[in-house]
Amino acid sequence: MKYVIVIPDGAADAPQESLGGRTPLEAAHTPALDRLASQGRIGLTNHVPDSLPPGSEVACMSLLGYDPLQYFTGRAPLEAAAQGITLGPDDWAVRCNLVTIRDGSMEDFTAGHVSTEEGTALLAAANEGFAADFPLLAGWQFIPGVSYRNLLLYRGTPGSPAPLGADTRATPPHDLMDKPVQESFPRGTGSRLLTEIMARSAGWFEGHPVNAARIAAGKRPVTHVWLWGVGRAPRMEAFASKYAATRFGSRATMITAVDLLRGLAALSAWKRLEVPGATGYLDTDYAAKGTAAIAELLQADLVCVHVEAPDEASHEGNAAEKVRAIERIDESIVAPLLAHLETLPEWRLLVCPDHPTFITTKTHSRGSVPYVMAGSGITASGTTYNEPAAEAAVRADPRARIEPGWTLMRAFLDCHSGGPRV
Ligand SMILES: [Zn+2]
Repeated sequence: MKYVIVIPDGAADAPQESLGGRTPLEAAHTPALDRLASQGRIGLTNHVPDSLPPGSEVACMSLLGYDPLQYFTGRAPLEAAAQGITLGPDDWAVRCNLVTIRDGSMEDFTAGHVSTEEGTALLAAANEGFAADFPLLAGWQFIPGVSYRNLLLYRGTPGSPAPLGADTRATPPHDLMDKPVQESFPRGTGSRLLTEIMARSAGWFEGHPVNAARIAAGKRPVTHVWLWGVGRAPRMEAFASKYAATRFGSRATMITAVDLLRGLAALSAWKRLEVPGATGYLDTDYAAKGTAAIAELLQADLVCVHVEAPDEASHEGNAAEKVRAIERIDESIVAPLLAHLETLPEWRLLVCPDHPTFITTKTHSRGSVPYVMAGSGITASGTTYNEPAAEAAVRADPRARIEPGWTLMRAFLDCHSGGPRV
């Protein structure tokens, strides 16, 4: 049995006036997704428990079959795992965005999608600035990641009090777009220090050659670090042992351009396949991901393709771009994968967004997302793939709602004639 999962990040949405009252999934021309729906089944699931933040970190953990209420400790530890960083029991990871704050307002949580090279240079300055401004604090280090997505690590020593806690809360900067940041500084244990680091970072970056060059080129400067996603290492068991009782073999592969998903793959003992041209942004090479997934199926039992583009389009409030991202996922990833799978004796394909990202609010939201799964042993229900169709499927048969979201994986991997057990 070959399994494929496609995650169109944040693709679920509400009807848009600019799309004639349709959702982006409805407005998009998606013949492959609709064919999948017509020969498979659709329904609703929800990957964000009420008590957790509605981000990709929680939702993707659920989508990959791990109950976030049991396993989730924070976003940054997942991203640390992506970089091969092992956190000890006294260590903490903090997500460090490079952002543009102007006049006290979050102008850009990506600082104009600052490049990895620029970010690396700025974080070197941040490490120097930190040592100068906080000479008594040991164990802290900024670690460059990809573009605006970076980390601040704290390496603790056994027996000494932790500077951060399970109660430390911080607001994701993408939830603050065009809003004043003053009332959204961290809260709980260590919040004063985190706030102080963010304030001091303005001085580390002001006048830095990277910023001088960016301003000269008409780009947004990096004004601050924004710290959030605080957590310690989660204890996730390997996917192959967790789902040993299903028809899944042993080899799973993740294709993504986002550290969060790389980290989830690392912690669940999946292989990670880096695809050239996969950017985690609207300009990602969709066809390269589709081609790589098909080639990977030669040896892997399960391949997951994660595409960040619909989420990014939502963060920019761009309905047309979101529709375009969904259409390119359909054309360059779902269509070739479906055509390939149909030549194999036994296969299943699941498409499901992690969470809705509403164009109107430009931010992640909790709530239902539509799934579609098709393949061996799944009875055809004959419909299309979008939010209203999935809602109608649930009205017609309440078992089409599969919750909590992490049990969707069990339904997908199990093989029973007549469709997955619900
Ligand atoms: Zn997401």
